[in-house]
Amino acid sequence: MTAPIPFERPVFVTRPVLPPLGDYVALLETVWQSHALTNMGPMHQMLELAIGDRVGAGETALWNNGTSALMGAIRALELRGKVVVTPFTFPATVHAIALLGLEPVFADIDDESLTIDPVKIEEVIVDGVSGIMGTHVYGRFCATERIAEVASSSGLKVIYDGAHSFSRRPPIFPDDPTAIGDITILSFHATKLFHSVEGGATVTMDPELNRRLKLLRNFGIVSESEVELVGMNGKMSEVHAAMGVAMLGMIEGEIAQREAVASAYAAGLEGIEGVRIVAGNGDSMQYFVIRIDPVAFGSTRDVLLDTLRSMNVVARKYFSPLCSDMDPYSALPSAQNLPVARTAAREVLALPFYGGMSADDAHRIVEIIEWHHGGGRL
Ligand SMILES: *Cc1c(COP(=O)(O)O)cnc(C)c1O
Repeated sequence: MTAPIPFERPVFVTRPVLPPLGDYVALLETVWQSHALTNMGPMHQMLELAIGDRVGAGETALWNNGTSALMGAIRALELRGKVVVTPFTFPATVHAIALLGLEPVFADIDDESLTIDPVKIEEVIVDGVSGIMGTHVYGRFCATERIAEVASSSGLKVIYDGAHSFSRRPPIFPDDPTAIGDITILSFHATKLFHSVEGGATVTMDPELNRRLKLLRNFGIVSESEVELVGMNGKMSEVHAAMGVAMLGMIEGEIAQREAVASAYAAGLEGIEGVRIVAGNGDSMQYFVIRIDPVAFGSTRDVLLDTLRSMNVVARKYFSPLCSDMDPYSALPSAQNLPVARTAAREVLALPFYGGMSADDAHRIVEIIEWHHGGGRL
């Protein structure tokens, strides 16, 4: 096989989706007319309703980003002491715990779903643990039924980081009373399929929790004369909400385009030994992730990544390094023994995946992977 031709310009793992500029400007004109720039104005209300509709279950509150939504969720549930959490996630999940002065306790993941393993959760629950936080990795749901059982038998609260979960066709959540946990957070960061540049949301089935979440995002203020909770500024501005409103019309088209890219990848990767597709097949269209078995494939993920980078394909190692290996957490006792997560972190690779890519781009990336598999190196 002759060496593939490198891409002329870098192909990144994702590229933010943008609505037509005119649509956004038209919405900004109404913001200008209203002189309402933030504090849950008309755009915010419109977007909150629309997101709640698409979520289709429970009650939804908008936040200025997914990380403050996570912190709000922890405060709303009054978690204290220690929180069991997955090491295989974006740093924000674990940072939200630590920023609030709580201690993360890592539990290993399940090898198939790459989400926190309920059996491992039970093993690490000690005195002082008040909650469990799992991440729906690449939109694949945690074992929510089993986790609900573990939580209720130990009196723990459950928060899910569903940052990748909104990037799919509805229903967003399975029809299962345990699917949302006590609170699920969503992220609307610019890199997510649906975004408001920066933004996020909380979803809960409990109206009282939703009331507390809404207070927490606005300094705990109930009224001019009453502040009920230690709150923060977690409000989404009108300028961001307008972007979200403009983006609502982009979701279906972007999903359809990503489905076409995913099919092109899947068809090409099918025959390559040692490559397994682990995301990009409907759970969420946020990422297209493969897992490299170094023995069967004949090369490690890291060496393949070097080849891809040399061809201008900027694939990413989501999620590597593990949160448990990051400086603030690596000395924790629970960070030491996480063999399943460690292997996964060595083997996963997120390939470029966004609607603006062509099927031909996907074919070329597959060719590079095939060439590398066949021993090709630059
Ligand atoms: C994007 C992301 C976040 C962070 O969300 P922000 O809106 O950027 O704060 C948290 N967790 C996961 C799994 C994410 O992918």
